[in-house]
Amino acid sequence: MGDELKIVVELQQAIDELTAAEELLGGIPEWMQELHEEHSRQKVEMDGLQAALDEADQAKRAADNEISDLQAKVKHFQEQIGMVRNQREYGALLQEIDTAKEQISATEEGDLSSMEQGEEAKRLLDERSGAFQELDERYQQELEKWESQKPEVARKAEELRQQVAELEGRVPRATLAVFERTRLRYGGKALAPVLEIERKGPRILHCGACNYRVRPQTVVSIQAGNIETCDSCKRLLHIEEDVA
Ligand SMILES: [Zn+2]
Repeated sequence: MGDELKIVVELQQAIDELTAAEELLGGIPEWMQELHEEHSRQKVEMDGLQAALDEADQAKRAADNEISDLQAKVKHFQEQIGMVRNQREYGALLQEIDTAKEQISATEEGDLSSMEQGEEAKRLLDERSGAFQELDERYQQELEKWESQKPEVARKAEELRQQVAELEGRVPRATLAVFERTRLRYGGKALAPVLEIERKGPRILHCGACNYRVRPQTVVSIQAGNIETCDSCKRLLHIEEDVA
């Protein structure tokens, strides 16, 4: 394998490793993925229950305030009873008192239902909080472990970044442009291996990415270290050792 192709292959490899390291740094490593998902799922549930409890508490406070306002109103009307001057005023006052009392009992009913909802949320929270706390502790431990591993991954990423820059500097600009363009087009992978079709008779080689046939003279040129692209998908071809 000639130098230029060899460098391009190394470059692709370094870029792949760098991409993986950067993705890892921005996310969660595979070994704690399962716990991470379980933790996120349960956290959403616990937060939802807490929100339901808060909401019920708030509704209860609002209802309590409303009830005490209405009770004050009833008291005020009752105090006025002694001051009425005729039957009509008396009737009107009694009507006001009745209305306020009806409002009180309607509000009390609503109050009761938010209390029940709050109690149910509280019961579920209590029931699950022990298990969640345990899970959370395990999760925090794994997070800590991951945090302690991060600097090493970051250091490796930095090393790879330098390696990528160094390799890019060694590839002729025209080749680098083709490489970059192809890489962008194919989700980060600019290369395709030349593979051999398994069959009897003369060997047939094809592009490992799109299966298009690779001409024998192309293979010779690749073996001489030249950059060749697949006639169909235009990926840069390289030969893996067992084929060459
Ligand atoms: Zn191809």
